[in-house]
Formats: sequence, C-alpha cells, structure tokens
Amino acid sequence: MSIGILGGGQLGYMLALAGYPLGMRFRFLDPSPEAPVGRIAPRVTGDFADRGALDKFANGLQVVTYEFENVPFDSAQWLAKRVSVYPPPAALETAQDRLREKQLFEKLKIPTTPYASLSSAYDLDTAIKKIGLPAVVKTRRMGYDGKGQWVLKTPEDVKAAKEILPKQAFVLEKFVAFERELSIIAVRGKSGETAFYPLVENYHREGILRLSLAPARSVAPEIQRAAEYAAVQVLDSLNYVGVLAIEFFELDGELLANEMAPRVHNSGHWTIEGAVTSQFENHLRAISGLPLGQTTPIGASAMINLIGELPDMAEVLAVPSTHLHLYGKEPRPGRKLGHVTLRAPSVDRLFSRFASLPPFFHRPDFCLDGVKS
Ligand code: AMP
Repeated sequence: MSIGILGGGQLGYMLALAGYPLGMRFRFLDPSPEAPVGRIAPRVTGDFADRGALDKFANGLQVVTYEFENVPFDSAQWLAKRVSVYPPPAALETAQDRLREKQLFEKLKIPTTPYASLSSAYDLDTAIKKIGLPAVVKTRRMGYDGKGQWVLKTPEDVKAAKEILPKQAFVLEKFVAFERELSIIAVRGKSGETAFYPLVENYHREGILRLSLAPARSVAPEIQRAAEYAAVQVLDSLNYVGVLAIEFFELDGELLANEMAPRVHNSGHWTIEGAVTSQFENHLRAISGLPLGQTTPIGASAMINLIGELPDMAEVLAVPSTHLHLYGKEPRPGRKLGHVTLRAPSVDRLFSRFASLPPFFHRPDFCLDGVKS
C-alpha cells in the first residue's frame, strides 16, 4: 500500500512511523525542504497548489491523506479526481473556515459557542451588540495554535482591535468561562464503522496545547456520550473516513463544540503508548479499508508538549514509564519540537510521577502543577 500525505510535519512523521510495521509505504508533499519527514520518507518539495508537484506526488499512490488542514481545497479536489483522498475534501473545506464549521455544528444540532459572522472588522460593533463582551474575535481562515485570535474584554479593547485587525472575515465568539477543555478523537472506517477514544482533558497557554490528560478525570457517562454523538453526527454527515478530532468546552455539565480537526490531533498523541491502537494506526487502518483497532486506554497517560526548547534527553528518559518523541525541528519560540508521554496505572500514580520530572517541566507553562489543584 502506497500512501501519500499532504504535509510533512510531525503528524505526518508519526503517521508514517505507525504505518511501517503494517508494511505501508509513504510519500509526502511539503513546501519546506526542512520538513521533519525528510528523515524517514521520500518527499516531493513543492507548494500545495503547484499542479506539477501534485502530479509528481500522486503518481502511483493508492490513497492520499493530509496532516495539515490548510491544504488548499482545490488541490485536494484535483487529487481526488486521480486517487482516493480521505478524509473527503468536503471535511477539509468545512474545517478550514470557522464559519462553515459553526454552521455545520448548528445544522447537526451540536451545541456550540454563541457567535456572529463578520465580513470585516467594520462589522465589529454590530457583532458585539449581538454577542456581548467579553468575546473572542477569530479570523475565519488560517487560524491555529491561538494565531489569528484576539480576546476583547472592554470597549477600549474593541476600539484598539479595529485599528489592528487584518482585512479579513471573522467570527466573533462569546468568551466562555469554561470549567475545562475536553477533546474527542473519533475514527470512521470505509464501511461506516466508528470507534472513539475516551475524552481527553486539555490545558492550553497562549492558545497552544501544553498538556493532555487521558482519560479525562471524572467524566459523567452522558458527557462521553454527548461527545461521541457529536462526532458521529459530523462523521456520518460528511461520509468521513479517517480520524477526526473535536475540541469542546465543558461548562455546567454540558459540552460546547469549539472546533474540529479533520486529521490526527495533538490531543491524541498519548494513544501511541497509552491506548491499544494509536490514533495514527487507526487513521491508516481507516483510509486503507482495514478493520479499526481497539481504542481502549492502557492506564492513565499525560502528554506534555515540548514547545520552543528541549529538555535534557537523559533526564527525561530517567523517569520510569516516560516516552520521548522528538520531531527533528530547529528550536524556535512557539514551535512544537516534540512531546513526552508519561504513563501510569492510575491518575494518582501519574501525578506522583510528575514530581520526578526534571525542573525544566515545573515551570508554569507546562501546567503540571495547575492540573493537580
Ligand atoms: P482555537 O484555535 O479556537 O482552538 O482556540 C485556542 C484556545 O483559545 C482554546 O483551546 C481555548 O483555550 C481558547 N479559546 C478559544 N475560543 C475561546 C472562547 N470562545 N472562549 C474562551 N476561550 C477560548
């Protein structure tokens, strides 16, 4: 089986690592000659919109998938005329645009954050009349890891935002004072078979995921059911094949869908060591028409992102049941360079394991101390 992956970052890298034991082969397309997958797989270096590069990439492949959700929709559609593309390009089109995503949630009766659509920053006052303050203004397109977002608390913030907002379309969302953030990783096979990992608890700083705890603690069965129901609605409505992630805010015993990602997701990295089958293997099984693997967790896991700088490798590996993943990227502020997964038989044991991590991890941005309180 030859699989093509659009995007050569860490998600593609971990997909290939999960596919090699199954005898799969991979080819990547990425605009950067420094893409992490260069270490482990053949790669076409070219723009996602370059038809020549797409043609070279697609030649001889059985299936194409993507690890980057800002691949141009036109390119995915162009490829879909030549080779199977999963998840379907319609999922990409929806997830690339926060307004379309919200409209899909509404159509499927999935509770979501109250919002207003703005064709430009000129509509801000009208939108604020509808939503109120505090609010978050988000670019409709190309936002990720907290980029393209501005929190507006006061009328002064609104005035200042009008000066700096780019000439783009936005959605304005009510600022949700959530109790916690949860996400679900779901997978749907070609036959319509679905599987779900347990909800994961996520901690962000500056819009970037820092820590995931899996399974999330004290999840009421109806909350897990609500998340699975939301995922099934999205999966079935798009005739989806592959892994899908949905991020939620939990508030007053309810889930509000924040956004979805039509790909393997950072909050699912724990599944490599912490579940019977990883999200990466399950994505590959789904898009290859193979039976899905079990999503059962093995004990409790914590996934800690390594952002901007790396700890001493030996100190991390000295902690029992700790796994280190390095993506082979040059350190840069705000860049995801790797992650660490800790596993333990129970959450309490996991927390005591946190204490044995080197001092590097005890800074507030890792959220380790905050999560225990
Ligand atoms: P997003 O790119 O929409 O996933 O936003 C990144 C992070 O910003 C989220 O994980 C939240 O921590 C925070 N955030 C986004 N939207 C809201 C909101 N409407 N209310 C409160 N926090 C938000």
